[in-house]
Amino acid sequence: MHCPFCTAVDTKVVDSRLVADGQQVRRRRECVSCHERYSTFEIAELLMPRLLKSDGSSQPFDESKLRAGILRALEKRPVGLEEIEALLNRVKLKIRSSGDREVPARFIGEAVMSELRKLDQVAFVRFASVYRSFKDISEFKTEIDKLAKESAASNEPED
Ligand SMILES: [Zn+2]
Repeated sequence: MHCPFCTAVDTKVVDSRLVADGQQVRRRRECVSCHERYSTFEIAELLMPRLLKSDGSSQPFDESKLRAGILRALEKRPVGLEEIEALLNRVKLKIRSSGDREVPARFIGEAVMSELRKLDQVAFVRFASVYRSFKDISEFKTEIDKLAKESAASNEPED
């Protein structure tokens, strides 16, 4: 690409590394002519399937909506932006690797929940409560009891 500073045609790549869980390449470039440096990001262009709603209609996949839902669940949680981006990428990868042109909206909700569950259990319960529209406190309790049981099981000694 042309240098954004002087529009010279020749730039050279001075560094190249994987970012965002290996799903993006960041390239550091230097202009051969004015020697300014800048970065470019490269990401695979893949079409996301459409969302199939329970009433049978479908709509385009909306990444900003997905991101907003995840950010809301993670509000004020000790989780860094990079981890959130990585989670979002894993969810998108899961959706794409279904290989279908349409995926049920439910599939996406479940994918987010299984990722959040591993990352931050408070965020998971928040997301699940909105997504599954918990109706009363007992549904929160059921989910929290499940988490507690699982973490007790994983803390048991090997032998
Ligand atoms: Zn230049």
